Amino acid sequence: MKEKRELLSLDKEELEALLLSLGEPRYRAGQIFSQLHRGLSPAEMTNIGNKTRERLAEVVDFHLPQVCRKLVSAIDGTVKYLFTLADGNAVESVLMHYEHGTTICISSQVGCAMGCKFCASTIGGRVRNLTAGELVGQVIAAARDSGERIGGIVMMGIGEPLDNFDNVVKFLRLVNHPEGLNIGYRHISLSTCGLVDKIDELAALSLPITLSISLHAADDETRSAIMPINRRYNVAALLAACRRYYAVTGRRISFEYTLIAGKNDSAAAAKNLALVLNRALRTRSDTMPIHVNLIPVNEVAETGFRRASAQAISRFAAVLEENGIRATVRRRLGSDINASCGQLRRAAQGEGEMQ
Ligand code: SAH
Repeated sequence: MKEKRELLSLDKEELEALLLSLGEPRYRAGQIFSQLHRGLSPAEMTNIGNKTRERLAEVVDFHLPQVCRKLVSAIDGTVKYLFTLADGNAVESVLMHYEHGTTICISSQVGCAMGCKFCASTIGGRVRNLTAGELVGQVIAAARDSGERIGGIVMMGIGEPLDNFDNVVKFLRLVNHPEGLNIGYRHISLSTCGLVDKIDELAALSLPITLSISLHAADDETRSAIMPINRRYNVAALLAACRRYYAVTGRRISFEYTLIAGKNDSAAAAKNLALVLNRALRTRSDTMPIHVNLIPVNEVAETGFRRASAQAISRFAAVLEENGIRATVRRRLGSDINASCGQLRRAAQGEGEMQ
């Protein structure tokens, strides 16, 4: 028997081709596509006849991620979902409320292969990539559960999005589709630990999304010690890729910098960070706007890393500003619900609730 395809992973053209092959008219694909992305299952589509539904069910599977756990922050209303996937694996997504609307943070893989020393998501390694349908499914399931319109997406949950390149790119096109969720590329951010070859591939596609670089240290010795990827692509190679990305897309890049007590939070480290960024990205011909997000590290029991002190954090920000680098300290949404990536999945694993 031919393996069934996953309905949510199909783009509009693939759905059209499939429906035509089933003897259905082309416009049926548009009807199904838009309703799927509004959160309806095929069974709930009242304008699709039973015969069509049955024919479709013979060739495709439909699974929306299921809410396994849901935590709502009493402080700021941030909602954290633990979603179960069709094969029993689980990933996390977080709904965040800003003045300009609701943004969702989604996961890109089950687990992660990158091995960053401070991160909970990578502790059990990478289990598998998420499909395009599971990526868009997180957005659809959260919108359906919350009844909210989601206007922005950040790919900062579990996993390294550029390590799941093809599915992530398909996902970006799916959520941007005017007959689907219609989320503008400018309202989508993708965060990476620095896969240089993939940053170049992404630049070549010229999608005007925002790229976020998880830098966390500006000298190779410190960065290699906390982020193994730095041994493959060092700081200079990464910043050169950032320059190329900016040259091609014209999109500003933001840098994430997690402050860990005693590791990367000294005034000297701040000064060096400013120097390295200015040198690499602000040559005479290039005046790339640079923004650094400072994130006090979330303490994960297994890593033993401690948060930088409030004093060290404000000193770090001040030194960056003095040296011409705009910096903000990230507001910690959902601090009472373990909203940082990977922590809820690990907690549920510990309690034997999921695989
Ligand atoms: N793999 C991608 C996206 C996922 S992580 C990346 O590396 O960018 C999203 C952000 O959270 C990254 O900047 C990551 O370095 C950071 N992060 C991971 N664990 C953290 C922790 N314990 N405390 C603070 N930030 C953390």
